[in-house]
Amino acid sequence: MADRRDQWDDNVGGESWLEGRRWSFYTDRQCIFCSVCTDVAPDNFRRSVAEDHDVVVRQPSDPDELARCLQAEAWCPVEAIGHDPG
Ligand code: SF4
Repeated sequence: MADRRDQWDDNVGGESWLEGRRWSFYTDRQCIFCSVCTDVAPDNFRRSVAEDHDVVVRQPSDPDELARCLQAEAWCPVEAIGHDPG
């Protein structure tokens, strides 16, 4: 389970409001740089500048992006993606 206290500093931060609630996605240091999230949600996840982990670069801006972010979170093999509120 992802831990906000262990998140990468280069996540974009911020939040979005969709479907009547707040969403703020992040990746944490469990990331094994497998690229599942960047394949599933390419508008929201990208590889880091250091190219050793992936980060959130944009919070979801519409229901399709939200669905993709939640799919990426579900498919991350090491549960390195989380969102607030949980
Ligand atoms: S799916 Fe998870 S482990 Fe894979 S790159 Fe994304 S955050 Fe890292």
